[in-house]
Amino acid sequence: MRPLSAAQVLALWDAGQTRHPIDRSLLALAFAMPEEAPDELADRPVGWREINMLALRNATFGSALDGYAPCPSCGSLMEFGLDGTTLLQSLPVPDCGARIVLDDGQWRLPSSRDQAMILDAPDPETAVEWLLDRCRVDDTQSGMTSTVDRKKSPKSKCSPARIGEIESQMEVLDPAADIRLGMRCSDCGHTWDAVLDVGNCFWDELGIRARQLLESVHRLASAYGWREAEILALSPARRAAYLNMIG
Ligand SMILES: [Zn+2]
Repeated sequence: MRPLSAAQVLALWDAGQTRHPIDRSLLALAFAMPEEAPDELADRPVGWREINMLALRNATFGSALDGYAPCPSCGSLMEFGLDGTTLLQSLPVPDCGARIVLDDGQWRLPSSRDQAMILDAPDPETAVEWLLDRCRVDDTQSGMTSTVDRKKSPKSKCSPARIGEIESQMEVLDPAADIRLGMRCSDCGHTWDAVLDVGNCFWDELGIRARQLLESVHRLASAYGWREAEILALSPARRAAYLNMIG
């Protein structure tokens, strides 16, 4: 994965301001993977998106991945630090054609599009119901490009036990869709698994980088009269050298 250029960082930061986090990640991947059809990115499994977002953030911002997670017991913010390259290597890329086969049906892995389609579910139980209904495939269609709005016409309801079975098999087939970090609170001793949202980490880091770039453009444009595109086209080393010269 190639790092985003300075111009791409600013363009992505600008374009992503009003978008939902899922769309922001897909937009970032569209920038980073121009060889992929943008529409098809949304149909890849969620873990595929997370793995490629992790690869993109590692390439653009470096391997060190630091963040915070609130302790669910006492609310203290606990810091975590991990190596993004090591994490990336530990995550298997999901098979886009993977199926969960049970005696009464087959399900494919949830995609970004599926996640987006269940955002307006009234409660988590309904969201899961909609998700499994969208992901259910039969012999006549792959499910990957279904145009049927299944939110309005659910095929059938799964029992809680069946839902748990499908979800656990989805986790096995696509573990990167739900990356967990083992955490321990240094204030109260509570231990828990925190969800690592790669897209949100990326967006936070992108915002920091974008503000740095905007400040660089402001200072260099003020000092030399260069245009934004010219300043962004400079290598990071040259930009830093000129910034040092103007103090
Ligand atoms: Zn705590």
